[in-house]
Amino acid sequence: MIEVVILDIEGTICPISFVKEGLFPYFLEKLPTYLEKLEYPITKNGTSDVNDIGSEFGSEHTESYEDLLNYITELVKNDVKQPALKTLQGYIWTKGYASHELKAPLYDDAIKFVENTKKSKKIYIYSSGSVKAQKLLFTYVEGKDGQVLDLKPSITDYFDITTSGYKNEAASYRSILASIGYEKNPEAVMFLSDNVHEIKAASEASMQSVVVVRPGNVPLSTDDKETYKTINNFDELGI
Ligand SMILES: [Mg+2]
Repeated sequence: MIEVVILDIEGTICPISFVKEGLFPYFLEKLPTYLEKLEYPITKNGTSDVNDIGSEFGSEHTESYEDLLNYITELVKNDVKQPALKTLQGYIWTKGYASHELKAPLYDDAIKFVENTKKSKKIYIYSSGSVKAQKLLFTYVEGKDGQVLDLKPSITDYFDITTSGYKNEAASYRSILASIGYEKNPEAVMFLSDNVHEIKAASEASMQSVVVVRPGNVPLSTDDKETYKTINNFDELGI
């Protein structure tokens, strides 16, 4: 009997392309509007959040508007994990969600699953995106007819790699089991993800694990299909 469900995000409840084709382009589209307003060269002086985040990119890149815009655009194109970039992206995405220009495109069956399942089970999230980003995503979900659904109250808690470790390691799933009080009863916990390495790790931690197959995901090998339970849609779970 399943009592707890843990969900991955990208490729499981929303398209794997959302970050690369939704969030990254939104950031680049809005970036000039934010950078134009700053005074160059940038010095950290508390005049605005964006000014002070901008100063973190370092004096060699903040001499002029063009320097900074080009530098940040290159970082995004090359997917460089740079702390100031992460902070600025988080800032601009937060504004985008709050203005409803950005909405999280969850699959309809995933929305229905969350709304039904929360009545009888606890739902947790475990994603490599930060807990802060996960909460934003659940607060601004795209519903039917473009309205915004707040699914955040349906989720009991959120885990990421800083709270629980890497997603391909069984130890991470054991740490989550301990923190939700299920270390002695892991078979009552179901983990769903598009990534077979994550499913393998969760299975090693004795969770019930299911691979979610969605358009655009990495195709499964014949071996994986034989080894793991797979679904194309949450309706198939029947829990
Ligand atoms: Mg995923």
